Amino acid sequence: MRMYEENTTEMCEALASDLRKHKQEAIIMEVEFLKNDLRHTLMCLREWCKPDEPEKSLVNIMDKVRIYKDPYGVVLVMGAWNYPMQLTLLPLAAAIAAGNCVILKPSEISPATAKFIADTLPKYIDNDCYQTVLGGIPETTELLKHRFDYIFYTGSTRVGQIVHQAANKYLTPVTLELGGKSPCYIDNTADISITTKRVLWGKLVNSGQTCIAPDYILCTKEVQTKFVEEARKILDEWYGKNPQESPDLCRIVNQTNFHRLTTLLKSGNVAIGGKSDVQDLYIEPTILIDVKPSDPVMQEEIFGPILPVVNIENAYDAINFINSRDTALVMYIFTLDTQVQDLFVNGTQAGSMCMNDTIMQYAVDSLPFGGVGNSGIGAYHGKYSFDSFTHKKSCLIKSFNLLGENLGSSRYPPYSEKKTNF
Ligand code: NAD
Repeated sequence: MRMYEENTTEMCEALASDLRKHKQEAIIMEVEFLKNDLRHTLMCLREWCKPDEPEKSLVNIMDKVRIYKDPYGVVLVMGAWNYPMQLTLLPLAAAIAAGNCVILKPSEISPATAKFIADTLPKYIDNDCYQTVLGGIPETTELLKHRFDYIFYTGSTRVGQIVHQAANKYLTPVTLELGGKSPCYIDNTADISITTKRVLWGKLVNSGQTCIAPDYILCTKEVQTKFVEEARKILDEWYGKNPQESPDLCRIVNQTNFHRLTTLLKSGNVAIGGKSDVQDLYIEPTILIDVKPSDPVMQEEIFGPILPVVNIENAYDAINFINSRDTALVMYIFTLDTQVQDLFVNGTQAGSMCMNDTIMQYAVDSLPFGGVGNSGIGAYHGKYSFDSFTHKKSCLIKSFNLLGENLGSSRYPPYSEKKTNF
């Protein structure tokens, strides 16, 4: 906590250097997020560490049954570059709280943050137990050759598979926080003005470089017309006539991602935006319409400020569309119709769901955050983070009480029909 309190300015500066993150975004989405998580952990840790005493059956009435919370041992935490403080330091704090030693690997794609972490952490935490390793693919490849007791990785599904394969060699348990295309369904019962604000904010915070950003919209043509009309007004209000001049929009992290994104701008027709500037790593907030499911923008996670709209006829159509693709990290549903909400809850699979908002589910401590299928393995946040880094060691403590001994004595030979006649 002291590290966050004493280095808030330095943390914001590193985030501005890596992603041109506005101070407000840096504080809310990273620094304060980390502090809140730590406050919650500190408040609950004594309780979480206590052994659980689960229910007993009659056979164990005289005994004690307990579940002890053991640390795994030495944990490898590999952070991501898009929220590079939060996605690196949050799992680190959880691994420490659960009693593990940690090798921390920040992403080299956000170098200022990686340097800040490597320089600053040793001043605040025990260097014998917690070490930071800097580097890119060769260093990660080397690290993954070693035996760890747990690996926690945040990043793409492609690299997640590499990590999983490396872990498999030693049967190391993993949490893989991965990505994917998170759909966003909007119907005509949703308040279109509030919906558009919430969807655009979720898409444009960090310039769309958010694993839980709504990736694409599924709606009817009628809803699309209203959405685009509202979006034009809102974007003008938020970022002005020339969004490139706004201090509130982050930049694309590097040229590789910039070029990947500009090719996606060619899908469908541009309804809003569409400009880009390679010198400034700037991509204008863009809404694409007339997008076909086979277009390039619908083949991979966008991870940028581009929002395609795919037209469907109704909720059943949307569900069929979603179910024909990889499992999403998050599913966003905007509707007031509870029957439609239930259709999505029961008819689709996703890491998590959020009705009538975007991103905000991530900040609810009591909800586990994680993917399923291609979007990941395991979950964290709040107590789920502590649980991720904890082996649940069951223990039966038998008494020598004669009543208990008699209750269990039918297990001893000589065996007989009578003893198995339940
Ligand atoms: P990435 O996953 O490609 O790279 C991450 C790290 O992997 C880098 O540090 C790199 O050095 C290493 N790496 C790359 N190739 C490697 C290889 N062959 N062997 C070993 N290590 C290798 O990063 P990315 O694709 O830019 O990350 C974006 C993805 O991460 C998106 O899909 C996003 O949704 C996902 N993500 C998920 C979460 C989450 O919490 N679920 C959070 C942030 C990002």
